[in-house]
Amino acid sequence: MVESKTIMSLQDLYMSYDSGPVLTDIHLDLYEGEWLGILGESGSGKSTLLRIIARLIDADRGEVRYRDELLTPVARELIPGHPDIKLIHQDYALFPNQTVTENIGYALRFYDPDYRKQRVEELIVLAGLESVRDKKTKWLSGGEKQRTAIARALAEEPEVLLLDEPFAHLDNHNKQVLSSAIEALRANTQTTCVFVTHESSDALAWSDRIAILQAGKIVQIDRPTVVYQSPYNGYVAGLTGAVNWLGGGAGEPKYIIRPERLSVAQSGDAVRWQGKIMSLRFNGPFWMVRCQNDQGSVTFYHSGNSLSVGDAIQLTYQDEDIIHVH
Ligand code: ADP
Ligand code: MG
Repeated sequence: MVESKTIMSLQDLYMSYDSGPVLTDIHLDLYEGEWLGILGESGSGKSTLLRIIARLIDADRGEVRYRDELLTPVARELIPGHPDIKLIHQDYALFPNQTVTENIGYALRFYDPDYRKQRVEELIVLAGLESVRDKKTKWLSGGEKQRTAIARALAEEPEVLLLDEPFAHLDNHNKQVLSSAIEALRANTQTTCVFVTHESSDALAWSDRIAILQAGKIVQIDRPTVVYQSPYNGYVAGLTGAVNWLGGGAGEPKYIIRPERLSVAQSGDAVRWQGKIMSLRFNGPFWMVRCQNDQGSVTFYHSGNSLSVGDAIQLTYQDEDIIHVH
């Protein structure tokens, strides 16, 4: 992604419900054409933030700008929403008794019929819906519904697409088909996209930048590699992947090593951790190996079938694999 113009900007947002504050001190610049993933635990305020960006609800405080224009509160608008911004809800909101083609065409009902037909066809191909185009959407799988909702949202070429948990509840097959549709979308359009997820692997895979929500604040926003390799704090480290906490001896701070950075020490390697293998879980590409010593347990990944539960084990890692966090 080229660092580019800001398309939307949120300044100093604060939002609370009866149960208490949900979002505090939210500052966010969304760049034109980028895919921004918002990663946070369930209940961390992701959907609330997305609904504010979609102009469906107002924050209690703060400013929302779209292309440098300060937007008036939603409460003062006749119709909520913004013509250039489309949100796809977690429940898709399709017409169940209409076909895929009809659902997508509905978004273009005021357009010339020839253009509509051609545009619907383009969207069906983009979203990989060729084989189900004449099915009523109530008979579709979750993944097909998700792709129909995306195709419909894209019909009028929104500037900003908002996706709420696009990969949730999809099986592996449907996740892969949706992934191909998203790849096509990214390659063929300039759409700016904000998607929220509680799954670190989806956020890491699909974001140009990831924003991490912790207790209502964006504590880190950066490229996936930076967030993963240099997490702002221990919470971010754990949210973005598996962690081992090491160190912490007398007067020594604790630090993190990712499991994929630990390996069995070969002769000549510095032994930096030793203990006993407690469990082995086969994962396909590798085994997840959990080991224990007096100080605690660590997990690392090992390919090959040479290890057994109960074995003594010596592990090594490099200095550059150490992640210091506060
Ligand atoms: P997420 O999408 O990250 O799971 P939400 O934005 O849906 O988080 O919700 C954040 C918190 O606000 C949760 O504790 C939720 O119960 C609460 N909440 C969400 N919507 C409402 C609402 N309309 N009224 C009251 N509380 C709400
Ligand atoms: Mg949500």
